[in-house]
Amino acid sequence: MQLVMLGLPGAGKGTQAARIQQEFAIPHISTGDMFRAAISAETELGATVKSFLDRGILVPDEVTIAVVKERLNASDTANGFLLDGFPRTLQQAMALDETLIDLNKGLSGVLYIHVPEGVLLARLTGRRICKQCGATFHVVFQPPQREGVCDRCGGVLYQRSDDTGEAVSTRLEQYAQTAPLVEYYRDRGLLRQVDGEQSIDQVFAGIHEILGHLQG
Ligand code: ADP
Ligand code: AMP
Repeated sequence: MQLVMLGLPGAGKGTQAARIQQEFAIPHISTGDMFRAAISAETELGATVKSFLDRGILVPDEVTIAVVKERLNASDTANGFLLDGFPRTLQQAMALDETLIDLNKGLSGVLYIHVPEGVLLARLTGRRICKQCGATFHVVFQPPQREGVCDRCGGVLYQRSDDTGEAVSTRLEQYAQTAPLVEYYRDRGLLRQVDGEQSIDQVFAGIHEILGHLQG
């Protein structure tokens, strides 16, 4: 299964991707996670992308496309992959199409988690992430058993610096560049929409059903 997840920041892509990865044994490829890892490892890529992430604006296409191309060449994508947060522009979508042609692959489907904008602020500002394993929590909607501590690995939970202040509204504005991808994939018959305003379990049940059909 070769999948893309689409949706506004805070729609629930990462939360659902973690479950899909576990259940369907395909690698979860998040460009945001890759950029944050590069920043904390202080690599050259990290230095290039840091100011974009800090401000909440999109990293230039050529940088992002190169990162994803290299990642899709890794052997763990042989049986499928789940792209989360990529593509985010039409140019990235077209580059992905070309890359997949070169790799003799195609997309199985695009999961579009649809939520009204009104729910996003509370989701983003309450989001907490494990420093150690990357698991996602929410102070109200998905609280850990012990405050500030990851249920899965015991790691310390932190708040992303772009989940506070001005970066949040900038990120929601930047989504204007991503919104046209809904039509792009609908036109190609790939779009599968899920109502993201339900509980996390209900959203996953919807996704599970869609993926069952895709697998045939
Ligand atoms: P995205 O990857 O699309 O930016 P996340 O999966 O990180 O979004 O979810 C954003 C925040 O909202 C997280 O704190 C997560 O725990 C919470 N969340 C995700 N899905 C739901 C849901 N269906 N209902 C309530 N909160 C949710
Ligand atoms: P995310 O973790 O998906 O919310 O992404 C966090 C930040 O990483 C975004 O606000 C962008 O600055 C950057 N980013 C992630 N994916 C992309 C992408 N496909 N294109 C451009 N920038 C991206």
